Amino acid sequence: MDLSAEALRGYIDYLRDMGVYDMYRQGDPADSSELQTWLKTLAPAVAAGATAAPVAAPRAAAPPLSRPSAPAAPQRPAPVRPATPASRPGAGPDIVIAAPASAAPMRAEAPAIAPPTSAPFDDFIPETGPFAPPSMPLVSFNQLAPLPASRITPQDKAAALQSVRDIIGDCTRCPLAYAGRHSIVFADGDPNAQLMFVGEGPGADEDESGIPFVGKAGQLLNNMINAMGLKREQVYIANIVKCRPPKNRVPEPVEANTCSPFLLQQIDIVQPKVIVALGATAATYLLGLKQPLAGLRGQWHDVRGAKCAVTYHPAFLLRDPRQKGEAWKDLQRVMVELDLKPPARA
Ligand code: SF4
Repeated sequence: MDLSAEALRGYIDYLRDMGVYDMYRQGDPADSSELQTWLKTLAPAVAAGATAAPVAAPRAAAPPLSRPSAPAAPQRPAPVRPATPASRPGAGPDIVIAAPASAAPMRAEAPAIAPPTSAPFDDFIPETGPFAPPSMPLVSFNQLAPLPASRITPQDKAAALQSVRDIIGDCTRCPLAYAGRHSIVFADGDPNAQLMFVGEGPGADEDESGIPFVGKAGQLLNNMINAMGLKREQVYIANIVKCRPPKNRVPEPVEANTCSPFLLQQIDIVQPKVIVALGATAATYLLGLKQPLAGLRGQWHDVRGAKCAVTYHPAFLLRDPRQKGEAWKDLQRVMVELDLKPPARA
């Protein structure tokens, strides 16, 4: 089965698990010629995928993620809550809603049309029209939930983080669970770290190992940390999403929004003094701002009571090493804030 069909089947299975067949539908499908064309094009690919691979075994259900009781700020768009939550394995609390369609499942629509074989799954997500993902207003981590009324003590942080990991379980709350991930990449580092790095999402090496930033970009991040006079074990490293997006694409808003409450809790537990957002995706979701990186660098932002600096993602620096000097300027500001000294040269 080619990758596009596999990814497509994963998404369709995800929607079916949710009891949703038309999450992005906005009009009457009976009147939509675009819908009919879309279904006729996709259904054979789904059917082909279904015969090429067995259906995955049900996953263990994860307990619901507790939420603060009185958020005054606007909430992120609700994800899709299934009509029969008990029947969906791994059901989470923060998955939003759409009414199940009365129409028959897509496979019943399969006509004898050759499935697309070369385009990646992302090509199936239209930017406009009835199947365009709903627009999702950005909500910063500060708006997402109020700060905790009480702070966790240093000796309890490791156990609290483990509780968050336990709540995540074998998570199926967003489509990335069905997109070929091998590991849920939770975090790495010191639960009492003063400095936290937040990236975008796991890549292939991270998906394989279950540890964030272990590939080439991770090696560069290690070098950056060492240049700041720290060791990797002294900082805390996490990502916006904990499962690898297919082909390392940027996480979809529904994926980032669904996974964000876990990172929010990690930040609230670790209580770093400084957070470094690595790249535009991390900055966008942490700050609730979609702006060019240049406009976000060079200033302090507030994220959950921590000072947040924005800099380039190490993967970008590998592609454009000329920007390493700019990234170093960003890290030097962090060093001043944390009173760090670069290691003495031998
Ligand atoms: S990315 Fe986050 S919300 Fe989505 S399946 Fe993975 S852990 Fe769950």
